[in-house]
Amino acid sequence: MTNDTGLLLIISGPSGVGKSTVIKEMMKQDVGCHCYFSVSMTTRVPRGSEVEGVHYHFVSEQYFLETMQAGLFLEHAKYNQNYYGTPMPPIQDCINEGGCAILDIDVQGMLQVREKVQRCATVFMTPPDFTSLENRLRERKTETEEHIQCRLAIAKSEFEQANLYDYMIVNDDIQTAAKDLAAIIRAEKLRILR
Ligand code: ADP
Ligand code: 5GP
Repeated sequence: MTNDTGLLLIISGPSGVGKSTVIKEMMKQDVGCHCYFSVSMTTRVPRGSEVEGVHYHFVSEQYFLETMQAGLFLEHAKYNQNYYGTPMPPIQDCINEGGCAILDIDVQGMLQVREKVQRCATVFMTPPDFTSLENRLRERKTETEEHIQCRLAIAKSEFEQANLYDYMIVNDDIQTAAKDLAAIIRAEKLRILR
């Protein structure tokens, strides 16, 4: 992938930590370049107010596997019994135009992308404490208790891999976390332009 001035930014962190919320808030700020949020493809069912094409492309397992076999994903992974993948073409366009492509993907995906993309910055988002994470997942009211427990179990192993990332953001206050994320993008873009 060519990316002379483009940047690819990966954000990972346990489900419910607030990645989508903080990314949405950050997108309102001026970071000095066009930011594109990568809409992943997934076989999981939509939850709550999720909209097709905005939050995810919701597809069947057969469609996902065909897309995978056609080599159209930058990366893909299985998380909690469902497939997730990052469609390559829009990322390539954004990077070629000097923008910042933002990927909300898990640790498995981050490791794959880092192997393929040179200009890649990685951010791990944590909650202030584990109880806050549990509360956020419950208060979102989008998961059954069984799924909440699965996501919390996965979160424990994700925390152990936080040291693989370039940056860490603690999402205590949404506005502060969004400003931290914007500052990381500005700093990474400056580094590229230098
Ligand atoms: P993720 O994308 O990481 O799965 P979400 O962005 O869906 O997480 O956030 C999970 C829930 O936590 C949402 O209901 C959101 O409104 C809430 N939330 C996000 N950030 C904070 C925060 N700093 N303080 C309190 N609640 C938050
Ligand atoms: P959720 O089901 O809560 O939206 O996402 C579950 C997990 O999958 C989160 O950790 C999220 O970052 C990750 N995820 C979302 N899209 C992708 C993707 O395209 N690839 C990978 N590897 N992980 C993804």
